[in-house]
Amino acid sequence: MTGAELSFVVDGLVEEGADGTHLLGSRCNGCNTLYFPQMASCPNPACQTKVLRPETLPREGTLYSYTIQRYQPPALFRMRNWKPYVLGLVDMGEGVRVMGMLAGVEEDELEIGMSLQVVTEPLFDDPERGAVATYKFAPVGVG
Ligand SMILES: [Zn+2]
Repeated sequence: MTGAELSFVVDGLVEEGADGTHLLGSRCNGCNTLYFPQMASCPNPACQTKVLRPETLPREGTLYSYTIQRYQPPALFRMRNWKPYVLGLVDMGEGVRVMGMLAGVEEDELEIGMSLQVVTEPLFDDPERGAVATYKFAPVGVG
């Protein structure tokens, strides 16, 4: 995948680095809390600074929880060849948990605590935008 003509379902969530896909978050200059997705202001009620700077999250996390989605996702996330898919909640460290589809793992291989990494995968083809992608989580070594 070159990424040149790839667009994303939602802009501003990921960055393609030399070592792969990273989630784009923010960290507070005052209380040092890490957030995903990026926010305009720190929501911590005890924080006096509220000024955030962009920060990429680590590529790897661990599976905290998951569910099997046996119905089609909303139109925004429509898929080329729909079939039931896994929606995971992935612990990225520092209290940040990110929801996303899982890729490259079968239902019977799922294990709470398994290592996952962020990858980019095309979801569907749009006549104007071309291939439209989203981030997913794949077992380490697959993406
Ligand atoms: Zn803060």
